[in-house]
Amino acid sequence: MGLDFVIVGYNQIPMNDILEGLEVTQNLSGAYNHMAGQSVVFSNRRYSYSDLIKESISNAIGRPCEFDIWNMPICAVHYLVSILRKSGLSVEGVNSFNNDKTKLIEILKKSPRAIGISTSYYIDNDPIKEIVEFIRDYDKDVIIIAGGAYIANLCFENDVNQQNWLFKDMGADIYLNDSQGERTLINLCHELKKEAPDLNSIPNLVYKEGKSFCYTARVKENNTLDYNYADCYSFVKDKPIPAVFTRTSRSCSNHCAFCRYPFLGGKYTLACLESVEEELDYLKSIGVEYLVFVDDTFNIPLARFKKLLKLLIQKDYKFKWFSFLRCSDIDDEAFDLMSIAGCKGVFLGIESGDPQILLGMNKRATIEQYKYGINKLKEKGIMTMASCMIGFPGETEETVANTIKFIKETEPTFYSLQMYFHETKVPIADKADIYGITGGGYSWCHNTMDWRMASNLVYKGHQEISNSLFLPIYSFQLWSICYYMSQGFTKEELCEFLRYAKEMMLDSYNNSNPEYRGGQDKKILEVFKNSKMVMKYKEE
Ligand code: SF4
Repeated sequence: MGLDFVIVGYNQIPMNDILEGLEVTQNLSGAYNHMAGQSVVFSNRRYSYSDLIKESISNAIGRPCEFDIWNMPICAVHYLVSILRKSGLSVEGVNSFNNDKTKLIEILKKSPRAIGISTSYYIDNDPIKEIVEFIRDYDKDVIIIAGGAYIANLCFENDVNQQNWLFKDMGADIYLNDSQGERTLINLCHELKKEAPDLNSIPNLVYKEGKSFCYTARVKENNTLDYNYADCYSFVKDKPIPAVFTRTSRSCSNHCAFCRYPFLGGKYTLACLESVEEELDYLKSIGVEYLVFVDDTFNIPLARFKKLLKLLIQKDYKFKWFSFLRCSDIDDEAFDLMSIAGCKGVFLGIESGDPQILLGMNKRATIEQYKYGINKLKEKGIMTMASCMIGFPGETEETVANTIKFIKETEPTFYSLQMYFHETKVPIADKADIYGITGGGYSWCHNTMDWRMASNLVYKGHQEISNSLFLPIYSFQLWSICYYMSQGFTKEELCEFLRYAKEMMLDSYNNSNPEYRGGQDKKILEVFKNSKMVMKYKEE
């Protein structure tokens, strides 16, 4: 049987290239400063945290190391491979475009009928274009399909002319416009097997015809999550099994004023617990020990969350797991259960430490609830990551000071602080007149702040916060801590890495910073030299 389909996962563009590309926009937008604040200068080049940690571990081992967060099995790739195979198709997956190029080349030699590009983590066309060009170098005729979150966002945000321009620039043949898209993909792959495929018969497609694009009917998907999970994992023999992503729900029941996710994700949908149990049984049977639950509101509804925690305890899986958590919607019993059930870390979408800003954001949470929740989690030995933003409409220097004070007082294990990103199709955008909002993305202004001021306040905030460790949002999140722990590194080693990395980030926040010293380069290379894991790898 020939190969019907290949799905290609994440392509990480080097941080140095991203920053070089953004340099010309420095006076127009905060995008450059935002990315600079997610990276460091090391050996005179911009590094993402994920590349920096690889450099540090490689230095300790004495050869290039294979530890890379993109070795974590990507959810979308494994899920799609599983469901397409179940529909009777012959399918292969390439988890990481960067790390698995040799595998991709071998697969391309089998002349697959079509190749899909998953766009879950992208914010612009560049990584997709690079994959398309790479594939075309080996097979100029293969049908290339792009689908997933980036394509759905692009269709949500832009008018048809802009969409056509972006599709042409990307260079694929067919685009899937649905935030779920799996039903469309299954139908499309089967249609492509026919002698004369009729693309027009399949909803949710945009495809090239001559020099223009055809749009088929739009029919929103609403797929069940029950008994519909990835079951095609395979791991390298005799190596620690990486942490695995899983989800038990889709979309979100909240409506934060800055967030588009509830619009794109559709109705909040939960998998039944019997299905979750079956998946957890499977993951346990293949040796998985570390899990990341990617549900955006894992603890909602609370009664179901408690049932799930009790299931984890009763079945004695002994998973160590990380998740998102709304610490304003939880009680003491759930905190106790989380600890017993193996929770090691939670991502908290705090957003602001100011009550008025929280109201404006429609966060439906109070500062008191946040404080109580963080304290309880600390009491239970669960790592906390408080994610905050600066510059939401209505923000002033005073409200920002409240956010910084909140982080300093509550001392979460990790924090992130980033500039507000203004979307034009979210609830707060409907109040543009009230707040005087103009612009979009990282180039915005409102009655009480603009992106320049927000960028300066982010930098100032980083300088003031010393009792929590900075974790960037881009390329090295809390899930990376879970991954490196699954590979045998300790929390203490990872925290030491983050301590030096923050000094480097601050040193190089702005290229023109006259205070740039570059003094931490040596220290960051020493972090893992006494690591037990490194010793083990050195002996191999
Ligand atoms: S920010 Fe999080 S909780 Fe709020 S609507 Fe978006 S996904 Fe839901």
